[in-house]
Amino acid sequence: MHQPTDRVRRAERSQIRVMFDLAESVDRELVRLEVGEPDFNTPEHVVEAAAEAAREGATHYTSNAGLPECRRAISDAMASDYGVEHAIDEIVVTVGGMEALHLAVLATVGPGEKLLYPGPSWPNYETQAFLADGEPVEVPMPVEEGYDLDADRLIQRMGPETGAVILTTPSNPTGRVFDPEPIRAVVAAAADCGAHVIADEVYAGLTYDREPRGIAALTGHPDHVLTVGSCSKTYAMTGWRLGWLAGEKSIIGEVTKIRESTTACASSVSQHAAIAALTGPQEPFEEMYAAFERRRDYVGDRLDDMDGVSAPRPEGAFYAFLDYDADAEALDFAKYLLKEHGVVLAPGSGFGEAGAGRLRLSFANSMDRLEEGLDRLERGVAEY
Ligand code: PLP
Repeated sequence: MHQPTDRVRRAERSQIRVMFDLAESVDRELVRLEVGEPDFNTPEHVVEAAAEAAREGATHYTSNAGLPECRRAISDAMASDYGVEHAIDEIVVTVGGMEALHLAVLATVGPGEKLLYPGPSWPNYETQAFLADGEPVEVPMPVEEGYDLDADRLIQRMGPETGAVILTTPSNPTGRVFDPEPIRAVVAAAADCGAHVIADEVYAGLTYDREPRGIAALTGHPDHVLTVGSCSKTYAMTGWRLGWLAGEKSIIGEVTKIRESTTACASSVSQHAAIAALTGPQEPFEEMYAAFERRRDYVGDRLDDMDGVSAPRPEGAFYAFLDYDADAEALDFAKYLLKEHGVVLAPGSGFGEAGAGRLRLSFANSMDRLEEGLDRLERGVAEY
């Protein structure tokens, strides 16, 4: 029988998923800190706008690029929130940030070409490279610098065979917000070798210590930047599957053409929900950001005070990435914490080579649960 292609077989099962499945199978009460999505439900005004649109007949295909009013809302929000300017024909509405990444990688990385990204990184980039028949290259960033972007390390690995570089800021899994200077250097180097920078900014609204700025707004080479955005994390809308890709017009035209054969368009109902989220009342989201910031402060303080654990203070997203003082591999240690202490964290080894021996803790959880989870982590590390 004909075997499935290497393209699909090379992809590995996510270690976060391994922990998720284990957590679902054990018969005890757990504190789940492995999950990467807001614990808030989508605000009522968004749900209502989507329901209303569906009742009024917004139940059909939209154009491949998405509803013009949805792209207008995205264009305005990108400009006002992140300083990134795009006309609506430079934006395609996608099925989550995930499809935007997939389209961006398909359009920029040819067979055998390299997709570079700083590590530790979100595991889906590796799979995205495989799906494009490209080569994923993780470039580990220094833990001593709190995983900030070290431009030289990345630039040394770039060459004519580089199709694209992904920069994720704020970062999943480290919570780091990259400094503007190394970002500028990486974009300039990418432009020199004819490569694109894919700016994964799905956490851009969750930036605690500085004003969020889009990568495309920081550089003199915005035509080499493709920006990935999403309603998932900043608008508590993971299940609506609504994101976007924005960039130079000809490349957006090409991806709009091929997406006819992948998903055709994003859900019309979700596009109406996005319009309401982006243009409607912002108070529910501001309350959510304030809650995340309080949790960030609490988690940062607890980890600073905890023996046997260290972590750079998260600057964005809702993750802390921690080192632990125990002679155990990350997956084994995460399983031990789950089974013996009832707290679930994601093994850092699931985020590439640079994540080995570390754990990711998500603070997308209530204060009470975080307090309990951190108590359990503290006991687990002490008793190991
Ligand atoms: N990029 C990063 C770094 C993520 O962590 C995620 C989701 O976890 C995504 C992109 C995709 O998010 P979505 O497809 O829900 O917009």
